[in-house]
Amino acid sequence: MQKKIYVLDASAIIGGFYSKSYANFTTSGAILEIKDLKSKILLQSALENGHIKVDEPDPEDTEEINQIITSSGDILRLSDVDRGIVALAFKFKRNGFKPIVVTDDYSMQNTLKTIRIDYQSVLTPGIKEIINWVKICKGCKKRYPSDYKFEECEICGSPVFRKRVKAVK
Ligand SMILES: [Zn+2]
Repeated sequence: MQKKIYVLDASAIIGGFYSKSYANFTTSGAILEIKDLKSKILLQSALENGHIKVDEPDPEDTEEINQIITSSGDILRLSDVDRGIVALAFKFKRNGFKPIVVTDDYSMQNTLKTIRIDYQSVLTPGIKEIINWVKICKGCKKRYPSDYKFEECEICGSPVFRKRVKAVK
């Protein structure tokens, strides 16, 4: 069985996520994105006691990811730091691990799906039960289910954006 490894982006670190059972990695770029003092202090102690480790993708991983997201169009939506996180997960996969990326970033999740790397949201399962995502058209406000595949409204053609809503019981 492949060994699980968690790869955390800034949203995961700010959300206080790290696995207690498996190794957690992030990149120096993601660490630089953390600006608030409370998260910085928490991160500092997680780094000191080894709960979170810092690693970087190899140039070949970054190149591979750049090629993939250029052809999928995700290159426009991913920052350099986002790409670094995806490329780091890719490196772990290449080395025989089973990486799981923890991120709330929808574009990253999309890219990870394309390259068949597992991911999870920062939100805990308890919160997930009461929060749902929907997609809403910017123009006519039509609601679509969160798995609506297109980026444009089927009625008016306006862009569709993702929104968190409380689940209706
Ligand atoms: Zn519309």
